[in-house]
Amino acid sequence: MRHIQILPEEVSSQIAAGEVIERPASLLKELLENSLDAGATRISVEAKGAGKKFLRVSDDGHGMDPKDCEVCLGRHATSKISRLEDIARLDTFGFRGEALFAAAAVSRLTIATCARDAETGWKLEAVGGKVLSSAPAPAVAGTTVEVKDLFYNTPARLKFLKSDAFEKSRLSGVLEEAALANPHVHFTYKSEGRTSLRFEREPAAETLARDKQRLISVLGKELAQNLLPITAERLGFKLRMFVSPVDGLVATRNFQHWFVNRRPIEARILQQALYRAYGTYRSKDRHPVCIAHLDLSPDSFDVNVHPGKREIRFKSDREIFELISGLVTTALFKTQAQASASIVREPSPLYTYPSEPFLQLDTAPTQELAATASMPRWFTPPYRYLGQIERSYLVFEAAGGLFVLDQHAAAERILFEKFLRDLESGNLKSQKLMLPLAIDLPASAVQKVLSQKNRLSRLGFEVEPFGKTALHVLSVPILFRKAEELKEMTHRLLETLENPAGAASDVRHDAVATIACKAAVKAHDALSPEEALRLLEDLKECADGSACPHGRRTIFSLNREELARKFQRPGAPPL
Ligand code: ADP
Ligand code: MG
Repeated sequence: MRHIQILPEEVSSQIAAGEVIERPASLLKELLENSLDAGATRISVEAKGAGKKFLRVSDDGHGMDPKDCEVCLGRHATSKISRLEDIARLDTFGFRGEALFAAAAVSRLTIATCARDAETGWKLEAVGGKVLSSAPAPAVAGTTVEVKDLFYNTPARLKFLKSDAFEKSRLSGVLEEAALANPHVHFTYKSEGRTSLRFEREPAAETLARDKQRLISVLGKELAQNLLPITAERLGFKLRMFVSPVDGLVATRNFQHWFVNRRPIEARILQQALYRAYGTYRSKDRHPVCIAHLDLSPDSFDVNVHPGKREIRFKSDREIFELISGLVTTALFKTQAQASASIVREPSPLYTYPSEPFLQLDTAPTQELAATASMPRWFTPPYRYLGQIERSYLVFEAAGGLFVLDQHAAAERILFEKFLRDLESGNLKSQKLMLPLAIDLPASAVQKVLSQKNRLSRLGFEVEPFGKTALHVLSVPILFRKAEELKEMTHRLLETLENPAGAASDVRHDAVATIACKAAVKAHDALSPEEALRLLEDLKECADGSACPHGRRTIFSLNREELARKFQRPGAPPL
């Protein structure tokens, strides 16, 4: 039996630190929150070694006097609340008094600060949570926190971090969120010695206009410009929101941000409300872009759910759900009504595609239905092609039964398996574009895609950064035809990477599935009987012909017995 012991201070503080500071990005989030709480209007951030070697946040906020500075690294040291009830009236991001304590416990930290109009400033240095020096410093208004060698004394933590490219993208992501939520603040971000992001203070006087301007600077014109604005005001509730029109959905959930009182949060209930509004306008793999700013009275939700303060709990889930989904539904409905008269433009081709038709046929086999006593299985010939319905489904008769093929899903499955084989044997050909294609994305998304550069290149995609907020695509697998398809592929990739289980094989599966989907015959394409039969034959050759790579079924059948039952016959008539 092991005996109980009280953990030494050093160990317990390292454990506690792990909850607040998981990675450089969570440290940055805490430091930005402190600067914003101090009323900063200019914040500059600098990171080196993906934030592990060095992370510095400087602000022009109200600073601290020497007395406060001396105690700010202590456990539960906060100027923001003094009683539990204060949380219900919270108007700051911080309140737990843990962030600086936690950061100091796992790094070499320096804090230099000077209160407004004070004659001198103060500087504190700590290593592994132990204060090494505390002394007067030059009177530079505001506060600078510098964190070096994060997790130097907790190697397990350090190992748990992902690649530098990924951690950098998380850092940019945190900065982008802070920028979206605070358009009145000027942000600069230097990464590895180069200015990586810069958001000027948005000058517009009106809040919605300011939000919109900042939105465009963060997400880029392409994603931001066509969003529908929604505003509403009720007692204790204010909403400003920007969402995709129904014809502007994208292949990733990556561009959805919710802010409650400027705090970036994750709340399933809000996302569910949004998705309910899109209802039937949306297919499974399409998602709205959504930036929503909610101002709520502090007593209508609880942020003290998680040390990272990313989750909140609403007092009335039902009410907020109905409100959001109702407002979005109305906005979508209104624009749908207006748009019904407008013209749909086809995206322009990226380059000319060798116009060989999908699934070339050599013969025109005519299959006769023969009388066999064997079990009617869809893959057992002979069968007869009866025709196409809805210009999407192919109907066949086989041994007295009937089966229906979804032509798009079937073609996708066939091509998916072919491309995987081609990829494995090195036959998936890539083609250089005449002009690189620029895809506008937030910097964090550009970095996320670039973190997969090698993997993408094995799939036939050559990508490069173009400026800070765009990606240049230089080569693509030969099957891509349109700029829109490439954008979709990029968004889909972001979606896969977002998923914590998004392993290497998923990226590959996803990319190949997208290529297959794009190259596959579409629903609404007219097919000749020969093409229909060929599709069926090819599907039979597939390792898993029953579903498309996205998991939709390709075929459904009614055998003789089932048909007979439908007509309340005692049994199938003899063949
Ligand atoms: P919390 O934000 O929950 O209060 P922190 O550990 O993040 O806890 O910060 C402790 C205290 O240090 C804050 O309450 C605040 O008084 C002070 N502080 C931290 N960062 C700054 C800053 N950038 N400007 C002014 N004061 C700061
Ligand atoms: Mg704080």
